[in-house]
Amino acid sequence: METLKQTLKKTPDGVTLDRHLFKKCVQSNIVLLTQAFRKKFVIPDFQSFTSHIDQLYEKAKNLSGGQVADYIPQLAKFSPDLWAVSLCTVDGQRHMVGDTKVPFCLQSCVKPLKYAVAVHDHGTEYVHSFIGKEPSGLRFNKLFLNEDDKPHNPMVNAGAIVCTSLIQQTASNAEKFDYVMTFLKKMAGNEYVGFSNATFQSERESGDRNFAIGYYLKEKKCFPEGTDMTSVLDLYFQLCAIEVTCESASVMAATLANGGICPITGERVLSPEAVRNTLSLMHSCGMYDFSGQFAFHVGLPSKSGVAGGILLVVPNVMGIMCWSPPLDKLGNSVRGIQFCTDLVELFNFHNYDNLRHFTKKHDPRREGGDQRVKSVINLLFAAYTGDVSALRRFALSSMDMEQRDYDSRTALHVAAAEGHLEVVRFLLDACKVNPVPKDRWGNTPLDEAVQFGHHDVVAALQQYQENYNPADGSDKTSNEKNLDSLL
Ligand code: GLU
Repeated sequence: METLKQTLKKTPDGVTLDRHLFKKCVQSNIVLLTQAFRKKFVIPDFQSFTSHIDQLYEKAKNLSGGQVADYIPQLAKFSPDLWAVSLCTVDGQRHMVGDTKVPFCLQSCVKPLKYAVAVHDHGTEYVHSFIGKEPSGLRFNKLFLNEDDKPHNPMVNAGAIVCTSLIQQTASNAEKFDYVMTFLKKMAGNEYVGFSNATFQSERESGDRNFAIGYYLKEKKCFPEGTDMTSVLDLYFQLCAIEVTCESASVMAATLANGGICPITGERVLSPEAVRNTLSLMHSCGMYDFSGQFAFHVGLPSKSGVAGGILLVVPNVMGIMCWSPPLDKLGNSVRGIQFCTDLVELFNFHNYDNLRHFTKKHDPRREGGDQRVKSVINLLFAAYTGDVSALRRFALSSMDMEQRDYDSRTALHVAAAEGHLEVVRFLLDACKVNPVPKDRWGNTPLDEAVQFGHHDVVAALQQYQENYNPADGSDKTSNEKNLDSLL
């Protein structure tokens, strides 16, 4: 848009572009624009998708339960009415609703992010020689280690404190803080990432439990050699006090959804290994003592924090940040949980939703281009070889039996041209396909059957055409076929 504005300023009438100038304006974003015009974004019908999101937002807005965290004044001051949802797809499509520009602290939502940084820097083996990978089944700030005297996982405080100690071990705390900040900024596509010094100070003053955990970790030799435990705790508190907005955090989540490449800048920020590990542990351990239930009901990697944020990732599709300060008894945002639950009720985003056959939920994703081409080829090939049982299988798995190839030819054209009467009957009787589709030369299946001298097929098609009423055929989708006749 910037280039367009600048270029138009230099044209005689300020509105018209010739081909050459148009090319100049679009060429640096040609991939993005081509995707847009070909409807190749991961969510092609973004408007209808986001109108559903707005409805889910409104529904959760009505909830009034929960308590805003009040163990430090900086958290207690937030209004319980604040409620925001932002999302960013792996193609950089954005949507925001509610208080999405209000800064709040990441708190525990920073845990997966710094774990990702640690794995990015040191690899899985090194990091997990200090920290386990198992849900603890205990409260996040419990003073407790696993059988090997290691923290259970990096999503609970003990694990996150050890994880903090792994980052840039030889650097000063100031350098470490800058280092993590730079990572977070990159994950957020250079959008808002700030710091609340007041929150940091309060956290440190009231952090007795975390100090207790720190001393226990030190006693059990959980840190790398030479670690200064109190300065690790300082950095831990600082990282909890890093601020984001719902908007910027949704880009961070989208970077995780996109395998570590920020969808806004296109920069690779994290290694695929770091992202995969992080998503796995968010999935099993991200939601405090609700993690198992969340994994069961929502089936998506997520991490919540005491400020009311829930960082949610739909891998390969989008990142979402929900934020609302009132928390339930387990420490998760009441509205956030409702939103996440409703989201997977409506869309097939749950990790174990079947993407091929489960038709009750919406799938807002684009059907992969390759997959569509493959499906046409399979369909036309089965029609060509007269393979009725393959066609039956396709029809039962909700394939569109009227789809066309690049010449606008349908399975019925091919079957008619080849003289496969059984296939023709199956397509017309069981699948109720349109008997008079025209290919790009204007030929119908009947024309084909006539041309190749398949008299039995000609007779069958003529009979169908006599009884065909385009008004009832046209609104029949392939999903509404009569199952009995298919079987
Ligand atoms: N600063 C808090 C702590 O370490 C983080 C709490 C949270 O978000 O879970 O205890």
